[in-house]
Amino acid sequence: MNNLYFRNDLNLENPVKEVFTNFKGQKVSKKTCLKCNGTGFIPEFGFSDNGKCWRCRNKGYEVFRIYTAKEIKSIIKANDRKIIAGIKKTQLNMEISAIQRMKRNHEIYVKNVAYKKAKILQKNKSKYIGNVGDKLERLLTLDWCIEKEGNYGNYYIKQLRDNDGNIFSHIGSALRDADYKKLPKGSTFTLKFKVKEHSEYKGLKQTKITNPRLVKGE
Ligand SMILES: [Zn+2]
Repeated sequence: MNNLYFRNDLNLENPVKEVFTNFKGQKVSKKTCLKCNGTGFIPEFGFSDNGKCWRCRNKGYEVFRIYTAKEIKSIIKANDRKIIAGIKKTQLNMEISAIQRMKRNHEIYVKNVAYKKAKILQKNKSKYIGNVGDKLERLLTLDWCIEKEGNYGNYYIKQLRDNDGNIFSHIGSALRDADYKKLPKGSTFTLKFKVKEHSEYKGLKQTKITNPRLVKGE
């Protein structure tokens, strides 16, 4: 007769000695209960249910299904398939996240290039406006405004641009700060000012202005 084995005896080392048939007609065998070591009692738990083993319900053994060597082999194959499928899935997930990382890095790179390109274009676009001492009136957009602490109170540095991309800058508190503070970045307004200086900063031509005044009533 063919030997029969418990499901976890994958090396077919311990053929079972007794074979029973359960109520479903399946072949089963008894395995010594490891919890109580086959005694049915756990002395340390004497205070609870007289120390009867809860795992084997006091029998000292548990009943498990048993399999032929051929069935055990197909169990092993199925386990291997599961493991291989798990490895493949992990590898695939790793490849996917590597591709996603590359995609993100590429997007950041493209953005940086676009940003640098825009900066260079802006630099080349900006020309000096007017002559030093000219009094001008222009429609300008506020790029940014930062507040600085000075010896005589806070002052503001602002960068502005006109519709042609020419850059203007103003430093100081001469411009009514209250008016300026109310203007969010990106605001467009008409400004009267005097050309103070033409200068280049990091390759960007700037028209520095003084005595700026907002033209009201627009
Ligand atoms: Zn037990």
